[in-house]
Amino acid sequence: MIDVAVVGAGPNGLAAAAVAARAGLAVQVYEANDSIGGAARTQSLNGSEAIFDLGSAVHPMAMQSAAMRELGVHERVEFITPELSFAHVLDGRTACAYKDLERTAEALGGADGQMYRRLVEPLVHQIDGISATLLDTLLRIPRHPQALAVFAAATVGGMGLKEVFSTKYEKAAALYSGCSAHVAGGSRGPASAGAGLFLAATAHAKGWPIPRGGSQAISDALAAEAMAHGAQIHTGVRVNHIDELAAQNILFDTSAEDAAKLSAGHLPEQLSRALSTTRRSPGSCLVHFVLSEPVPWRDQALAAAGTVHLGGTAAQVGKAERAAVHRGSADPFIIVAQPSQFDDSRAPAGQHVIWAYCHVPLDSPADMRHEIQSMIQRAAPGFSEIILEAHVVTAKDLERQNPALIGGDLSGGTMDLLGTIKRPRVSLDPWYLKSKGLYLVSSAAPPGPSVHGMGGYLGAQSMLKREYRINNWKSVE
Ligand SMILES: Cc1cc2nc3c(=O)[nH]c(=O)nc-3n(C[C@H](O)[C@H](O)[C@H](O)COP(=O)(O)OP(=O)(O)OC[C@H]3O[C@@H](n4cnc5c(N)ncnc54)[C@H](O)[C@@H]3O)c2cc1C
Repeated sequence: MIDVAVVGAGPNGLAAAAVAARAGLAVQVYEANDSIGGAARTQSLNGSEAIFDLGSAVHPMAMQSAAMRELGVHERVEFITPELSFAHVLDGRTACAYKDLERTAEALGGADGQMYRRLVEPLVHQIDGISATLLDTLLRIPRHPQALAVFAAATVGGMGLKEVFSTKYEKAAALYSGCSAHVAGGSRGPASAGAGLFLAATAHAKGWPIPRGGSQAISDALAAEAMAHGAQIHTGVRVNHIDELAAQNILFDTSAEDAAKLSAGHLPEQLSRALSTTRRSPGSCLVHFVLSEPVPWRDQALAAAGTVHLGGTAAQVGKAERAAVHRGSADPFIIVAQPSQFDDSRAPAGQHVIWAYCHVPLDSPADMRHEIQSMIQRAAPGFSEIILEAHVVTAKDLERQNPALIGGDLSGGTMDLLGTIKRPRVSLDPWYLKSKGLYLVSSAAPPGPSVHGMGGYLGAQSMLKREYRINNWKSVE
């Protein structure tokens, strides 16, 4: 009987394995796919000579994460930080969020620059306290009350900018609304407003970095840490029920629904039902393009951006996102990452890769290549002529690539206020599944989606405390 089995080798599963292994436990990781990384994986597709980030491409949360810091990722991975964190295209004009906030305010100019700066600057000053609070369960007594107060006030300001003053401060509102729209579904509530602000603030704190070699480098670094402390990783093994695993403890880096299915007969009925009926966000349709040259952006400043948002004004972004919930939009909000502008390991010499995605209804089979390509073409005339390859991954395909992405929802369940607090249940220890030795450590548990590894890091610590009375795992080594 081993101490710990981890089901799934995404960044959270690998972080959990590393923490448990560093605490001296015997750990085995089982991954359904033939390679590790989950939605932080980089590989070739359909025989292409280029490599593609199958999920995450840009990693602001990795820089803010205690897990990444303490598990050696910051040392093992070369993070390249573009000076232009992200840009937003509105009707031929662009709004640029440089890593340097001063420069951003100047470039936005006048009232927009002042408004954006007033909204984001207090958060940049408090970024460590805010990160520690948000990259945890929100129900914990805040250890940084001042940072939390600043964040709460800014969230109210952000909601006002998006909903009330978006015409007066058009560029500032568009820049900010693009960040909020990373939370799929166009929610008008505080959760998407807060998430957007946090994301915007990270752009001016440590930036929005791209790992050399792709997101796989982060997963490999976490795996190296786990294996250095004795963990073993088995790929190509899909776990169907926990009775197959001879382990004292099982940590699920899976969807909430799969955690319930895999533990059938072992969980309290009410919790099992709650996990099986997790509310879902819309899905996403992703297109990987290989290009014969860099994207010919009309505004050449965009060549320096790691991420480009396409979607127009804040009102247009909101409309497109709300349409994505049920029927999709002909003019969707699009997120483009252009890693090969900064990392020449992604494509054969002279060629480039970009990934672009938009939200679509959950489980949609829709191929959004035409819409995505047209939106890019409008901001970059000549784009269609330089495409060498296009690989479409529909919402349905996303789930086929990774069973944790139910219906193509990449956030592990809805990220509105209720979905953030009841994740998967309202508790100070939400990772524990109320049955001895069973824990949910994926993005379906706090703090939710993104490559930060904090679900695994915190979930494994919960297991160490509850099952082994180990309160300080770092002192065990
Ligand atoms: C298209 C896309 C773009 C994204 N962009 C970004 C971005 O730019 N920046 C960012 O920070 N985040 C981004 N994300 C989100 C981020 O990738 C995820 O939030 C993160 O990977 C979640 O990590 P995880 O370990 O919880 O789950 P996952 O990474 O999904 O890993 C779960 C793993 O568990 C395995 N598994 C599931 N069930 C079983 C089973 N029964 N048996 C064995 N193995 C199983 C899966 O195969 C998978 O490998 C993106 C996600 C997607 C899909």
